[in-house]
Amino acid sequence: MQQIKVWCSAVMVVATVTSMAAGERWPGTRLLVTPQALADVPAKVANHPWAKQLLDDMLAEADRWVGRPVDPPTTGGGWPHNYVCPKDAGRLEFREDSPHRHWCPRCKTFYEGEKLDAVWINSRHMNFAVAAEICGLAYRLGGRTDCADWSRRVLLWYAEKYESFPINGEWAGRGRVTCQSLDEAVWLIHMADAFDLIADHLSDADQETIITRLFLPAARHIEQYRFGVHNIECWQAAARLMAALIGRDDALRDRAIGSLRKNIEAGITDEGMWFEGAPAYHTYTMMGLTPALLTARHNGIDLGPTDKLRGMYTVLSHLALPGWQIPALNDGGQTSLASMAYFLETGSYLFDDAELKQQLAWIYQSKLGSRTKVSIRQNPLVLLYGPAELPTKASLDLGSRLLKDTGLAVLRHGGYTAIVKAGRKSGWHDHADRCQLILADEKQTWFDDLGTSSYGHPLYLDWYRHTASHCTVMVDGKPQATDAMGEFVRFETAGNCPTITVRCGDAYPGIVLTRTVAIVDGLVLDRFEASSDTEHEYAFLLNAPGEFTCNIKPAGGDSGTSSHLKLGSESLAALAANANLLNGDWKEASGRLGITASASSAFTAYTGHVPGFPGGQQRSALALVVRGQRAVFTAAYVSDSGTDGAGNARCTEVSVSESGEAIFKTASGKTHVLH
Ligand SMILES: [Zn+2]
Ligand SMILES: [Zn+2]
Repeated sequence: MQQIKVWCSAVMVVATVTSMAAGERWPGTRLLVTPQALADVPAKVANHPWAKQLLDDMLAEADRWVGRPVDPPTTGGGWPHNYVCPKDAGRLEFREDSPHRHWCPRCKTFYEGEKLDAVWINSRHMNFAVAAEICGLAYRLGGRTDCADWSRRVLLWYAEKYESFPINGEWAGRGRVTCQSLDEAVWLIHMADAFDLIADHLSDADQETIITRLFLPAARHIEQYRFGVHNIECWQAAARLMAALIGRDDALRDRAIGSLRKNIEAGITDEGMWFEGAPAYHTYTMMGLTPALLTARHNGIDLGPTDKLRGMYTVLSHLALPGWQIPALNDGGQTSLASMAYFLETGSYLFDDAELKQQLAWIYQSKLGSRTKVSIRQNPLVLLYGPAELPTKASLDLGSRLLKDTGLAVLRHGGYTAIVKAGRKSGWHDHADRCQLILADEKQTWFDDLGTSSYGHPLYLDWYRHTASHCTVMVDGKPQATDAMGEFVRFETAGNCPTITVRCGDAYPGIVLTRTVAIVDGLVLDRFEASSDTEHEYAFLLNAPGEFTCNIKPAGGDSGTSSHLKLGSESLAALAANANLLNGDWKEASGRLGITASASSAFTAYTGHVPGFPGGQQRSALALVVRGQRAVFTAAYVSDSGTDGAGNARCTEVSVSESGEAIFKTASGKTHVLH
């Protein structure tokens, strides 16, 4: 987020404001919610226990707020990425009753400081907006005028004070009540929905005050910070669209529509992945687009062709790993396929698409998620728009896939899943990870992308974004370039040895990285070539959960060296220099991954512990290092769980021929060759 530029402050457009004519009121329930959707709820509740549960939960949440004072903080909030444990890099836990002491549930420790207090304030502002929305729904669906009145008081509180909040914060634009224009937009969407829901409970004077002193000033403030094609812009344009409709500002509305159309047209890859390449930002973008899509539909606004947009709802399933985790590629944390349920619920309404309903039904039938376990922020739309009936027998097609425009390829064969990244232009959230390998058996993921901690933690830059944390090659101890274009040279899935080859010539100047991964006879074969006209130090990096042990002997010369390889904040110890074959295992309680590895010339092997997922356990890293103009690393992996014939498959010998072929000899006498 550090590199974010504020594009449009110099070219601010003065909106042509159409002031509301006397007696012209906002009629309500035409942004996210329609009278028809509200009218359909009683039948859903009567016929489906999940719908009754959602309604009960929502009314209980409204009850939790409605008796309480309307007393949001009177200062602007701070950056949520600072809410991170300095020790384990995991998120701190927001506790409403603890504005000055902030809890790490893993360390069982409270942390203190002004920056943390400011994040607590940000969360309070956000929670008031969500509560105003929930109370608005309780009014519409439960006839609760006391809830409508509480929402009205929240809206008026902010309307009366909004412009007295100084401009505040840094990073993704600036906010007033929140820390950035992005958060201000997220907050404003909830506020606009609340206003829309209780519109008929507001007097003309209330409406006028809230529109002229909150929605229009907030939307115009947000519009000063423009992000082109970006997840942030989707949120901000959605908020501007909703506020512009309420405020009858046609020019503001049209600019928001133009921005949304541009993002939908240019921000989605051919396969339906949000171009930033991060599953976490893919879903975050969908969260921002969902209110825009609903508002557009309910107001006859055309946001352009929807083909690629539909793909956003199903593309992540192609990347699914054991436990239905989606790899944490680029910035952001791990995601589960279950998190797509909310989007599939509203997507089914927006597009009436059989494929979306199939995948939604599959998530519920496989017990991956349940309709009553979507978070309270998301529940209302599930209740309103979730299809009452879903297909009774759903399946999910999991095969090998080339997601060419997304820059990823997935091989699934013999119980293994291998994902190899070629990369594409992904912008600020990209990682320095070209040609990285993610590898799983049927039970667990061994080589993984760790995603990122909150951006306020030092390991964010030194480890999580860095090449060092990814299973790829690092040159001269420096990170690869981000935003580098890679290409797929080979993607063969027919036959019994599916194979991927990716190549990237832009990760380092003058160096070409080429990786081939194949799955055959219970083995995963890996050949990684790095070549240049000049001499470099090439480090072939792997890290996995559990403990790594190996048998390795130097082929000659010194058996150990005093030099250390630094990965993030950790130094790896040298195991042996001038080695030519390594046999080892990562061992976990639940399984074991064996490796037999070699290189085109004698290598030094290093091992040590490195940080794992933010807030999670350490991992064991292995690095093979070769100096020269060219290096070919080769490795065979075998898992002892969920694969066919693991024991016999293990390689006894792995080597590189004079011409650079990787040669694998197995215990059962077979030879495989990769080139
Ligand atoms: Zn902690
Ligand atoms: Zn990464």
